[in-house]
Amino acid sequence: MRHFAQALEADGWAVTYELTDDTAAALKTWIADQEITELRLMDPVDHPFRQWLLALDLPCELTLLDNNHFLWAEAEFNTWADSRKGLLMESFYREGRKRFEVLVTDGQPEGEQWNFDKENRKPPKGKLNPPSPQWFDPDDITQAVIEKVENLDIPTFGQATPFRWGVTRAQALAVLDTFIDHRLDTFGPYQDAMVTGEETLWHALLSPYLNLGLLHPLEVIQRAETAYQDQNLPLNSVEGFIRQVLGWREYMRGLYTYFDADYAQGNWFDHDQPLPDFFWTGDVAMNCLHQVIDQTQRTGYAHHIQRLMILSNFSLIAGFNPQAVEDWFHAVFIDAYDWVMQTNVIGMGLFADGGQLASKPYASSANYVNRMSDYCKGCHYNHKDRTGDKACPFNFFYWDFLHRHRDKLQSQGRMSFILKNLDKMSEQELETIQQQAAEWHKAHQG
Ligand SMILES: Cc1cc2nc3c(=O)[nH]c(=O)nc-3n(C[C@H](O)[C@H](O)[C@H](O)COP(=O)(O)OP(=O)(O)OC[C@H]3O[C@@H](n4cnc5c(N)ncnc54)[C@H](O)[C@@H]3O)c2cc1C
Ligand code: SF4
Repeated sequence: MRHFAQALEADGWAVTYELTDDTAAALKTWIADQEITELRLMDPVDHPFRQWLLALDLPCELTLLDNNHFLWAEAEFNTWADSRKGLLMESFYREGRKRFEVLVTDGQPEGEQWNFDKENRKPPKGKLNPPSPQWFDPDDITQAVIEKVENLDIPTFGQATPFRWGVTRAQALAVLDTFIDHRLDTFGPYQDAMVTGEETLWHALLSPYLNLGLLHPLEVIQRAETAYQDQNLPLNSVEGFIRQVLGWREYMRGLYTYFDADYAQGNWFDHDQPLPDFFWTGDVAMNCLHQVIDQTQRTGYAHHIQRLMILSNFSLIAGFNPQAVEDWFHAVFIDAYDWVMQTNVIGMGLFADGGQLASKPYASSANYVNRMSDYCKGCHYNHKDRTGDKACPFNFFYWDFLHRHRDKLQSQGRMSFILKNLDKMSEQELETIQQQAAEWHKAHQG
């Protein structure tokens, strides 16, 4: 905000920038002083912010304009959704490709396929050499904010220094340049991989800038498409990246406004375990959780698979309360907003909406973590053990989860194969698993 105010002033706009503890009062005073008759604001999208604005009782007319941080206007997404029986992301994504003419010629997809995801799930074998991300040193303005944050009289999470994110449009464009020139070519293959000490791999690191409005989604998409054409980049990487921004990002925001406001309260599995304290410290013997929480404390960032298959997968199978998990996600990530959090955490991550968004829960045992990361190698637990002293909690919670919710999961067609494996387990092993899960909870409460 401070940098944005400066940039506007430099461009000749009249700017009032005020620090206040009472935003509503300061806004009303400003409206009166400036004799404003109509206030035009961009719709903030987030329900709580929008409700706060609408309840302000301003001494002037308030007009909310469409939010331009997205390609699909709210009404356009609703029209698409109303016209469909199912709300599959893949159908929405194809519609977007055609509508915005991205990697499409005469209605047909580039490479004769809409989706190259199958080529994008490589495990991290051998030494990977991802390029360094584009970071920045804080200037005086950012330094002053860091000091302010460090002296706040409220509990905070994470470390304010070193702070290396960009804070201006020019810096956001520099991150985009670095991504297109050095990271996009290998974005696809290792999209799902997790490697100790390589926290960003080939990911774009663009979410904070897109969500703040420092970059527009269409310029990001078009830069990737142009690089594909001009630099002959691999289609699986370019299509895979474009699907994230044109598909997933727009879809999640669209569903957020399309679903009822009580979506946030979903708890389909009736999970009510409290979030363990180690989520706030990273102090836990499970190496995967330790690595990802520790990284988040230092950077405010974790990539998609770390968020989905480590943090929320474990929260799902261990049965943590979905609203407590969402509050945690809200508190710790640099790119957190209500619109992106609800659909990703409540819907995709925890299946707390009962399948309105995902076709089956993203639940897995240590098998997946071991295949897609190197975390298990340095862990106190054994990724193969389901019971016993060294049993990996991902294992006993996974089977305990399947057993606890067998009836509900049975109704999800895609789970029947997995449930058959549960049937093969002996009564005795199942009992030991349940006991071990209960003991873990007892040991990690308070
Ligand atoms: C449990 C959970 C919580 C998440 N919380 C957030 C959040 O608070 N804020 C946020 O912006 N994203 C969130 N995501 C989505 C995604 O993980 C992040 O956008 C991504 O990790 C940001 O890093 P990146 O820019 O390097 O992304 P890349 O992997 O390089 O992807 C490129 C871009 O695609 C977009 N994108 C990809 N997947 C999604 C998605 N599922 N939803 C929305 N946008 C997507 C983002 O704008 C991202 O910058 C969450 C996902 C999960 C599973
Ligand atoms: S053994 Fe289990 S807890 Fe340890 S890193 Fe692997 S999945 Fe995580």
